Amino acid sequence: MTAAIPDSLTGMGQGALRIVRTLRNAGHEAFFVGGCVRDLFRGEAPEDYDIVTSARPDAVQALFPRTYPVGVSFGVILVNEGDHAHEVATYRKEAEYEDGRHPSQVSFATAKEDVYRRDFTINGLLMDPETGEIVDYVGGVADIERRVIRTIGNPEERFAEDHLRMLRAVRFAANLGFLIDTETLGAIKRHSADIARVSAERVREEMTRILTGPGPRQGLEWLQATGLLSQLLPEIEAMRGVSQPPQFHPEGDVWEHTLSILALLPQERRPDTEANGRLAWAALLHDVGKPATRTESETGVHFYGHVKKGAEIAAAIMRRLKFSKADQDVVLALLENHMRFMHVQDMRPNTVKKFLRMPDFDLHLALHRLDCLGSHGHLDNDVFCRGKLKELTTEDLHPPRLLTGHDLQALGFQPGPLFREILSTIEDAQLNGEIATAKEARQLVISRFLSGSAADGHE
Ligand code: ATP
Ligand code: MG
Repeated sequence: MTAAIPDSLTGMGQGALRIVRTLRNAGHEAFFVGGCVRDLFRGEAPEDYDIVTSARPDAVQALFPRTYPVGVSFGVILVNEGDHAHEVATYRKEAEYEDGRHPSQVSFATAKEDVYRRDFTINGLLMDPETGEIVDYVGGVADIERRVIRTIGNPEERFAEDHLRMLRAVRFAANLGFLIDTETLGAIKRHSADIARVSAERVREEMTRILTGPGPRQGLEWLQATGLLSQLLPEIEAMRGVSQPPQFHPEGDVWEHTLSILALLPQERRPDTEANGRLAWAALLHDVGKPATRTESETGVHFYGHVKKGAEIAAAIMRRLKFSKADQDVVLALLENHMRFMHVQDMRPNTVKKFLRMPDFDLHLALHRLDCLGSHGHLDNDVFCRGKLKELTTEDLHPPRLLTGHDLQALGFQPGPLFREILSTIEDAQLNGEIATAKEARQLVISRFLSGSAADGHE
């Protein structure tokens, strides 16, 4: 069985090939392994190249001028070749997993043993990059062809050893568009409660890779089908069966709506990984307040206060998953503002301008677009915002300050909370086109804050 020929390797692949050649010329065995072989076989460009070798770590370090020992005890050395660092790992097998997270000891081994410790058959292929020949000890080629995720060996044991593999199974199924083999799926269902023992960071990382990959809808469906969702995000599981008014949501209940949005998410992909993650989590969480706020009366079904409730629930989820403060802030801002688009065409000019200049507005707009396309499909508010953004200059959105704090002090005001109110009154009038000069601003302050009861606080 052969896959890519060396000439078709990209620059990064050529670098990895040179490493393999150097190891072989020194008398060692060496292969490409894991995800890169899977991707090359599928005709996709690998994200990175991992190499396994019979050479011991000290021999690897001696052969290459630029190495970095990332995990010497595991036999993993980073080798710099060209512009990339490649992982070169000595064949190893792992003894006993005591805690379902870390192997208690490793020992050096043969190629076959090395492959057997890997998670899924599709990730257990070796490739000779000189010839493109694939060495398959685990039936990985057949599983790629059948498009199935299957553990290497007994799934019960493999998931008991390392619980994170359950989420990895979902990630590979979602990202590759594969099915999960029946026995493997059954084992995940039986072990799903163990996912609680995996660290929040690793769960968050896997979930983000699922949500930002090419199949986020399938990812959420797999999470649900495996039972992992009710363990990790019961708040999202609670969306199932929460029906909504069909005139706004012809697609179905809150769960269906969320799935429809996730299906559209890859269309909104951006080059910035951080932004992608934030938009994806906001898409997943934007209606998380609906199950708890649903009411039904003669006037129909309502979700009064779902935005506020949703932000509270989302904040708790993000704290639980140990998101950075910056991620939390952006995602919560996306949630808190998502319903404001409904009123954007009725907003006064100052409010529209402040809305359009919110940080990360492109993400707000993307979430709104997803929300519409994942339900009724009307994009008039999206079109309105884009039109305004075209029409308005940076200066229209951020007009120069007409008065400073010094000017206010010269008018007799003392610095304090009133200062901010005065300055924002001036800015609002400016954004509304009511004033344009310092003189007009001064007159506004005098008439609004220096006469009658409004002068309270001014001494
Ligand atoms: P991707 O393209 O998404 O990076 P990958 O297959 O390269 O996919 P990695 O997480 O980079 O995935 O891992 C590299 C290889 O290491 C895998 O292909 C697999 O063989 C092995 N591996 C990684 N994590 C585990 C694990 N938890 N249990 C067993 N083997 C693993
Ligand atoms: Mg990888």
